[in-house]
Amino acid sequence: MPRPVILTVDDDPGVSRAVARDLRREYGEHHRIVRADSGETALEALREIALRGEQVAVILADQRMPRMSGVEFLERAMDLFPRARRVLLTAYADTDAAITAINVVDLDHYLLKPWDPPEEKLYPVVDQLLEAWRRAPDRPSTDTRVVGHRWSARSYELRDLLARNQVPFRFHLADDPEGARLLEAAGCGAERLPVVVTGDGRALVEPTDAEVAEQVGLSTHATAELYDLAVVGGGPGGLGAAVYGGSEGLRTVLVESLATGGQAGTSSRIENYLGFPDGVSGSQLTDRARRQAVKFGVEVLTTRTVTGLGVRGGVRVLTFDDGSEIAAHAVVLATGVSYRTLDDVPGLTEFAGEGVFYGAATTEAPSCADEVVYVVGGANSAGQAAMNFSRYARRVVMLVRGESLASSMSHYLIEQIEGVAHIEVRTCTEVVAAEGEGHLEKLTLRDRSDGTEEVVDAQWLFVFIGAQPRTDWLDGTVDRDGRGFVLTGPDLDRSGAGSSDVREPLHLETSLPGVFAVGDVRGGSVKRVASAVGEGAMAVSLVHRWLENR
Ligand SMILES: Cc1cc2nc3c(=O)[nH]c(=O)nc-3n(C[C@H](O)[C@H](O)[C@H](O)COP(=O)(O)OP(=O)(O)OC[C@H]3O[C@@H](n4cnc5c(N)ncnc54)[C@H](O)[C@@H]3O)c2cc1C
Repeated sequence: MPRPVILTVDDDPGVSRAVARDLRREYGEHHRIVRADSGETALEALREIALRGEQVAVILADQRMPRMSGVEFLERAMDLFPRARRVLLTAYADTDAAITAINVVDLDHYLLKPWDPPEEKLYPVVDQLLEAWRRAPDRPSTDTRVVGHRWSARSYELRDLLARNQVPFRFHLADDPEGARLLEAAGCGAERLPVVVTGDGRALVEPTDAEVAEQVGLSTHATAELYDLAVVGGGPGGLGAAVYGGSEGLRTVLVESLATGGQAGTSSRIENYLGFPDGVSGSQLTDRARRQAVKFGVEVLTTRTVTGLGVRGGVRVLTFDDGSEIAAHAVVLATGVSYRTLDDVPGLTEFAGEGVFYGAATTEAPSCADEVVYVVGGANSAGQAAMNFSRYARRVVMLVRGESLASSMSHYLIEQIEGVAHIEVRTCTEVVAAEGEGHLEKLTLRDRSDGTEEVVDAQWLFVFIGAQPRTDWLDGTVDRDGRGFVLTGPDLDRSGAGSSDVREPLHLETSLPGVFAVGDVRGGSVKRVASAVGEGAMAVSLVHRWLENR
């Protein structure tokens, strides 16, 4: 097992050497101390460490560095090692920057220079952070390996599943030496891929999501048959309901079909969430919320899809895709929305996961290093994705059907995009065809203003064209509007209510009493993280009312 890394970065070679020396003296036996003299070289080092599948426990960064400040570096380092503990080395004059960084990069500590004597000022801090890093209950195994083909849809799905559940893994192409060695060691051929090799050496050939989830330590099975509250969907709305349900003493289970975080978990930067003036990455925000829910005793089940809802006696019953069931006194539906797909473009559907991706910006971005990336869409999600890809890709081309971004995208984001030279915005442009051998290779683009068409080489296409609720499984159980959004409270049509239906539905209550809907899936909701979280919290107070008065 490689030793976890402690990384220190400072542009002053003398300081950098001295910090590394002090760290090596105290921690060198059990940790690998890595030293860098700029944000750029430190990021390079982190990428290599990530590729080798090693872990980073603590990062210490100097704030005052040319080109990339300590805070900027830590922000980017978080994408590679979100669990590493972060320390900023500051001069007294930079205390403000350090305090700001507590929000921006979820800073664990700032150390005022000089840190001498280290026994008093440096080691107690690092000891505490190492201890916290070691104790993190969900610190996953680093040894998960996925072997597959680069352009295989299923191998992409598994990588997405692991990444979105914050499980570190290494991906090996089946035909590279390490991939071939792993397959041989696991006794598998390259005919049935992907293969997941777990930390304890077990090989899962073409595994289901649930099989992988179980092997990497995610909970997939409920421990009880009856709960006070069952929350369906682990996005911000569901997490909001779960945190408040758990914290208020309700026996709560949260069921999520893929990975907690929902859409927000795929957002590279949420700029408008209260309390984060400098933005926060969606995975950071929602990972904290998940941990908060677990802290309050909520059972979080991943890779379990709810396919049915019914009533049995006094309880609501949820059915899973494998036919198993759980019951609860109250249910919160927080299933959000999913990206619409470009099904009408000839040739495109066959490349899903093989060059064409729907809303997978954060997971795939590093794979696009130095390549050209096409992003379809003109709303905020597309803009955020373009900004995120621009950090890795050589060129990002946004394909926008409308005449400008102004009508569909927030002003701040348009300004950010304008400030990045290698993002090109092509308005009045749509994708009309796709072709390739085994994966996307070419796109045909049409200029909507004059109908001219152009064929371009393209290996990466990311589509962000709006979303729709997936609520067919609620057919006949709760009322929905024409587009599938769940109706609640005052929006429910009560014209057919009989005299026995004495109670008006509560504000977020659906047509099935005791079942509530929150967040994006709710008809008329504001499609925002803050409103989903707020509705999740509010639903819990309504659940209490329902439980008391039923
Ligand atoms: C790229 C991107 C950037 C965004 N940026 C911002 C931003 O900057 N600011 C902002 O306020 N908002 C932003 N949004 C919007 C925001 O993320 C959503 O409004 C918010 O996530 C909605 O939360 P939710 O809990 O209602 O649903 P979702 O986040 O959609 O979560 C729903 C969850 O339910 C799960 N699920 C669905 N069906 C089932 C089932 N049958 N069984 C079990 N689980 C199920 C899904 O897998 C999903 O995890 C962004 C969205 C995207 C996609």
